Amino acid sequence: MNNSLLPVTSLDDLRIARAALDEPVGFVPTMGYLHAGHLSLVERARRECASVVVSIFVNPTQFAPTDDLDAYPRDLERDTRLLEEAGADLLWTPTPEVMYPPGFQTWVEVETLTRPLEGARRPGHFRGVTTVVTKLFNGVQPQRAYFGQKDAQQAAVIRRMVRDLNMPVEIVVCPIVRERDGLAMSSRNTYLDPDERQAATVLYRSLSAAKSAYEEGERNADTLRGIVAEIVNAEPLAKLQYVSCADYDTLEELKTVTGKTLLSMAVHIGTTRLIDNFVLE
Ligand code: AMP
Repeated sequence: MNNSLLPVTSLDDLRIARAALDEPVGFVPTMGYLHAGHLSLVERARRECASVVVSIFVNPTQFAPTDDLDAYPRDLERDTRLLEEAGADLLWTPTPEVMYPPGFQTWVEVETLTRPLEGARRPGHFRGVTTVVTKLFNGVQPQRAYFGQKDAQQAAVIRRMVRDLNMPVEIVVCPIVRERDGLAMSSRNTYLDPDERQAATVLYRSLSAAKSAYEEGERNADTLRGIVAEIVNAEPLAKLQYVSCADYDTLEELKTVTGKTLLSMAVHIGTTRLIDNFVLE
């Protein structure tokens, strides 16, 4: 275990530190304010790779002007300690100037897959994600990279990007880590006041109810979406933004569930926007 994890910031320092690492290198990109969901990715990488690199970068280009970029929670000291304990070998904390130098004008864009769901509600979000992940991969040059199923469309988009552009990295998607009451862990959960935190269990409760119906044989996608919507609509503090029942790989909305399916949703609890999903297979 590395007991003195010192964050590196510049590309030059990253390259020097990266060159000294044993391979294969596993990489976990994050925006920081780490919780057990992030750490599950680090632990999986620790088990499967000789070295583990983590990045913390709150990427401005994946936030809309009205988003929570400035308010996004940060605690580098605590994050560093947690990553030390989890056995990370290298922490890269680039600044916006390192990632987006003056004159920056090159973008990576995945087309169809970024249009529905999160992409429809957050214009430009995935262009920011795919561009920054490409740059992070180019800096770290990992053999494997670890992403959470929590951000299901992001995982699908990254897998597609890596395949389409022949990027020499294996994408590993890890299960959602939840609080005891089912709420998916998220850095944004810190925005919730106690009443909102209680109401936020509605995402897990509604998805669980739809999953039970699926397990009892329900295959009509509208019926499954309807189960989620009805439970969310019964929660006064929650406002459903979308519920989707879509093909796991293409994200096309389904009439009937046949193969691997992504049941996903976004909900506003007060001013906080939360997402969650279950995979039906
Ligand atoms: P973020 O810091 O929100 O960009 O997340 C960094 C990585 O952690 C992404 O691949 C997320 O999907 C993943 N992640 C976030 N929350 C969870 C969770 N509750 N369980 C598993 N992975 C997660």
